[in-house]
Amino acid sequence: MFSYRHAFHAGNHADVLKHTTLIAMLRHLTQKETALTAIDTHAGAGLYRLDSEFAETSGEAAEGIQRLVGSMAAQPLAPALQDYLEVVAGFNSKGQWRVYPGSPFIMQRLLREQDRLKLYEMHPTDARTLDANVAQLEAGRQVAVLREDGFGCVTKFLPPPSRRALLLCDPSYEIKSDYARVAALVAEALKRFATGTYAVWYPIIPRPEAHELPRRLKTLATKASKPWLHATLTVKSGKQPAPLQTDAKRPGLPASGMFIVNPPHTLKATLQAALPQMVELLGQDRNAGYTLDSAG
Ligand code: SAM
Repeated sequence: MFSYRHAFHAGNHADVLKHTTLIAMLRHLTQKETALTAIDTHAGAGLYRLDSEFAETSGEAAEGIQRLVGSMAAQPLAPALQDYLEVVAGFNSKGQWRVYPGSPFIMQRLLREQDRLKLYEMHPTDARTLDANVAQLEAGRQVAVLREDGFGCVTKFLPPPSRRALLLCDPSYEIKSDYARVAALVAEALKRFATGTYAVWYPIIPRPEAHELPRRLKTLATKASKPWLHATLTVKSGKQPAPLQTDAKRPGLPASGMFIVNPPHTLKATLQAALPQMVELLGQDRNAGYTLDSAG
């Protein structure tokens, strides 16, 4: 357990999908004055170096965000991808792409004074790094770092005082039971606070639990009569790779998905414009593609 380190994967195609979606959701949710509680159940270290040994060993950012950066001059990007790159650029000196913000820092950057951010991280090293990174923000009570099991966040923070919440659930799926725990978390969250926005990232890999997860989430949303949106991005054939591995030299994740219950009503159109370009720029073979479904 805890062999997964996001530093190997920061800025890869899965992060492009996840963080572009996250930014688009936050842009919408922060338009209303009322405070928002944002929860990151699996936060990671918060900030990563794209010129670190981790990133250079895996080469994943080179096949992810760096492909978008490389194409910027040649063609206009879809607004959501442009926004994503601008947010990342905000953590870097002009023209340099050395620092990559993880979901905690993306969220904190887009939140307002009245909003609250709850970050869960259990890996001893990453939790320490996250703590130190967050301390530099001097954000006071706005940001809380919890070295606890992120799956326990529901009873602690839902419903939030202002009755507005965005939850990102992004486990490493190192253990098979993570899939069932994600579904249980969304079920419990909907029971306690039916109108929160619940976003789940998951890997698309040859494992029954991974196939089953979006189906289970769809059923949960439908039973609760809540709208949902499901986006997937495939960059290459998934035939070769084994299930998600945790070392730097894993064969590489072929595809991933985002499933959102109670998505902002603008999200579908935003992703509809961005996903074909993600395929064009991040696709590695002719199996590259996307899907986008929604209901409600
Ligand atoms: N959300 C981050 C981002 O987008 O930048 C990446 C998170 S990474 C995929 C998953 C993280 O969850 C890892 O850093 C891992 O140490 C942590 N983790 C694993 N099990 C956990 C648990 N039960 N509760 C909280 N964090 C956990």
